[in-house]
Amino acid sequence: MEVAYAQLKRYWGFPSFRGVQAEVIQRLVVESENALCIMPTGGGKSLVFQVPALCFDGLTLVISPLIALSKDQVDNLKKRGVPAAALDSSLTTEESSEVRKQLREGTLKILYVAPERLNNEMFVSMISEQKISLLAVDESHCVSEWGPSFRAEYLKVSRFAKEIAAERVLCLTATATPSVITDICDSTNGFDIDREKGVFSTGTFRPNLSISIKPCANFKAKFAVLVPALKSRGDGAAIVYVTTQKQAEEVAQELHDLHGIEARPYHAGLKADDRKTIQYWFIGGNGVVVATIAFGMGIDKANIRMVAHFQLPKTLENYSQEIGRAGRDGLPSLCLMVPSASDMPILESFARANTPSLRSIRTWLDAFFISPLDDDGTISADHYKMSNAFDIGRNTLSLLFTILELQYGLIRATTPFYSTYTIKPLENN
Ligand code: ADP
Ligand code: MG
Repeated sequence: MEVAYAQLKRYWGFPSFRGVQAEVIQRLVVESENALCIMPTGGGKSLVFQVPALCFDGLTLVISPLIALSKDQVDNLKKRGVPAAALDSSLTTEESSEVRKQLREGTLKILYVAPERLNNEMFVSMISEQKISLLAVDESHCVSEWGPSFRAEYLKVSRFAKEIAAERVLCLTATATPSVITDICDSTNGFDIDREKGVFSTGTFRPNLSISIKPCANFKAKFAVLVPALKSRGDGAAIVYVTTQKQAEEVAQELHDLHGIEARPYHAGLKADDRKTIQYWFIGGNGVVVATIAFGMGIDKANIRMVAHFQLPKTLENYSQEIGRAGRDGLPSLCLMVPSASDMPILESFARANTPSLRSIRTWLDAFFISPLDDDGTISADHYKMSNAFDIGRNTLSLLFTILELQYGLIRATTPFYSTYTIKPLENN
């Protein structure tokens, strides 16, 4: 472990580790075992593989779906004198043969690739010749069908880890629900991590987020709650999540035309250029984006003052990720949901279309509307009763918050009202 501290000082100049960094690094470097590291965005997950990479003699291979972010990290590492590279399709022939040369000569310490790269036979055979001291899998929740962003390539990543006989595997994520953790740790389809000894979490509690859920009778009522909240959100941007592309257009238009709010729609149906323009507009200013779940991954903006859900989110995991984008600067931010009974049929048709899986929709319905928690704190899908689904009453909401609190450590209920239920940060109680 002394080596790890020495490298932290030498390359980063940081005096100490944060959160669970030291524990995870100890597990990898001293115990030489696989681990899962759960920290919120900005918590410092990168150091958890970058420091060990400098303690091992072989290569650390990093799988990350966000190539742009990987490139930033590589530039940053190079500046600090760490031999790092990212292999992707944008490299020129010279650049990629330079990376291959470094690999052959064994001078490279950290290599970033996107999961799709594992389809490339040349790459796989090149890697098989290397000693892989550590395989780091960023955004590892993508291996889970319970997660909001399941990616089939990630199942391949877990097979690949075995194929190349990686000496250790480190999974990283900000998603901490029990079902996602189970999938990541699974010895067959996941990364074979000891659930008792190998999982490290700083908890995802975010004291600056206030969560407020105000069930509404109809669209008009939703706007009546949403508009004043958007107008008084203070200095910063906002995201309003909706379920369908059409709603993104309609809600953005109504906010803009009828209520004078700088709002623009964002969804996968827009042309790539338009999507980019809106993203830049959002990142650079304080506007409101009305979006489907297509908006978010990789959006790293500090001053999002409000994340609103115009409808019920698709799953609890989605909800947790989406509200997690609020208040990254640590300033007070509002997470407002204005669900109504009319949201249900749309969510149901998503379930039939299998995006997301029926299983996760049921989990959400259960969580929101009925059934108790199982003994182990997970949500059971056995009690699915559509007849109860339209009763957005006090009991069902308090159940939702119990689950959110148990599973995410995010919030604590204060005074329950019949139709308004506001959650205050733990520290203010
Ligand atoms: P994540 O991947 O969890 O979102 P990052 O790895 O990008 O977070 O780290 C976020 C920031 O925290 C970076 O600027 C990083 O330099 C900083 N950081 C991480 N660990 C430490 C530490 N032990 N001491 C000081 N700063 C740290
Ligand atoms: Mg990261």
